[in-house]
Amino acid sequence: MNVGKILAVGWNYRSHVEETNAEPPKEPIVFMKPSSAVIADGDDIIIPPGIGRVDHEVELAVIIGSVCRLVTVDKALEYVSGLAVANDVTARDMQTEARKAGNPWTLSKGMDTFAPLSEPVPSDSVDDIQDLRLELRVNGKLRQAGRTSLMIFPVAELISYISRYMTLCPGDVIMTGTPEGIAPLHRGDEVVARIDGVGILRNRVC
Ligand code: MG
Repeated sequence: MNVGKILAVGWNYRSHVEETNAEPPKEPIVFMKPSSAVIADGDDIIIPPGIGRVDHEVELAVIIGSVCRLVTVDKALEYVSGLAVANDVTARDMQTEARKAGNPWTLSKGMDTFAPLSEPVPSDSVDDIQDLRLELRVNGKLRQAGRTSLMIFPVAELISYISRYMTLCPGDVIMTGTPEGIAPLHRGDEVVARIDGVGILRNRVC
């Protein structure tokens, strides 16, 4: 799939804020992942040697369908054309070091293969974008489970907020944050992320 820019949102579920000992955000925490990190269902997540802990983060991804700038919350979902299952793969040790030093964590989130994304489905495939169950299993074992109803900033608020500062274009992707249960991946693992009504995303770790 050809994607534009990828915006990702940090600490958007209270349960994940708590497990990382972070402060609940007062405004959305937005960062970017490069489109070069995207892989599809069935592709391998490749962990470079010597980078320490690498975590999975299952997330609902929304795909922007038309140019969107300065949109209000009540109109924001009209700009969403598709939904997908995403895994915001994160080199956790590198990210932690960068945060401690006050440096950007771009590399830890932006490595090749660190943005697995399922084939999008039309946004009207689901009744309510804010009432979806998401889960992630590693080697068949449940690691993450949550509901999009538990987002701190719902999708419409995220789109409205981002569009104040950055024009969103067709093909842009917003990864909307992960619930609790982040944990390390290891080479040989089979990762299966699923969102009811949206799809399934299977990747092996190499
Ligand atoms: Mg994330």
